[in-house]
Amino acid sequence: MTNKPLIGVSSCLLGQPVRYDGGHKHARYITDELSAHFDFLPVCPEVAIGLGIPRPTIRLRRIGGDIRLVDGKDDSLDYTDRMREFADGLMPDLAGLSAYIFKKGSPSCGMTRVPVVDQPDRPRSYDGRGIFCEAFKARYPLVPTEEEGRLNDPAIRENFFERVFAWHRWQQLDEHSVSGFIGYHAAHKLMLMARGGHCYAELGRLVAGVRREDLPSRRREYIQRFMEIMAEHPDRGRQVNVLMHVMGYFKKSLDGHDKQELLRLFEAYKAGDVPLVAPLILLKHHLRVFPDPYLQTQHYLDPFPESLALRSVIHNG
Ligand code: SF4
Repeated sequence: MTNKPLIGVSSCLLGQPVRYDGGHKHARYITDELSAHFDFLPVCPEVAIGLGIPRPTIRLRRIGGDIRLVDGKDDSLDYTDRMREFADGLMPDLAGLSAYIFKKGSPSCGMTRVPVVDQPDRPRSYDGRGIFCEAFKARYPLVPTEEEGRLNDPAIRENFFERVFAWHRWQQLDEHSVSGFIGYHAAHKLMLMARGGHCYAELGRLVAGVRREDLPSRRREYIQRFMEIMAEHPDRGRQVNVLMHVMGYFKKSLDGHDKQELLRLFEAYKAGDVPLVAPLILLKHHLRVFPDPYLQTQHYLDPFPESLALRSVIHNG
């Protein structure tokens, strides 16, 4: 039994030879770097609906007001209903997923900008979404999803995994526990503050005075808004506000030299000269020397395993 978050993944990204031509699209970042921290659930929707390997290509085709999944050469071979039925049947088995990583550009799995053929002799538009991916997002709108290509962007990658672990922690909460709900909010205070102080206050109103009777509705409202807020990328100015807030907990313990050193690092981070991990390493060092029970609960300081090195790259948020 493992407690790693479970991520749904397009099978071809794990190196499985399931593509139309018998090949794969192995994403080494997923198998080499993520596998230490996550379990994977591979799904190839096209193989699952019996299209076989190899198989003719399929595409998204706008027909009337609908986008259909059809054969690459023959629009009359329409797989849309078969794909939707497969997705509907599988969805209950995906309830435990903490995230999904989809293969970009696929008419079944692609999440954004999938090509759609409007007229056979006209240029494609790039406003489609794979039929399977669409079904997943409709059923599980709060579960973090990304495409493997977008994960090459350091800001997107950091934000995605911050949300994945936050969602995973939510999944592990006892849904009947009022104190668990309140504790979840409190432990994400700094993470929410990095999106703006108003975010913590706004969600705090959903937690304040919660009773057992209204826990289910408060939880529903809370997590929907929480995940929306978490999808925002904190800018450097707000991150520095949080860093200063954390430093405030050491105001009696640190001498002038230590404080100056921290402030210099905050400035260097704000100027884009060092990544976020630089001031955080120093703050966490001070936290080890001067333990503070409140700060130690804050997921902001360790939102994901350090070895993922997600805060080690300079980016603009
Ligand atoms: S993109 Fe999706 S449907 Fe296509 S081969 Fe990969 S897993 Fe299968």
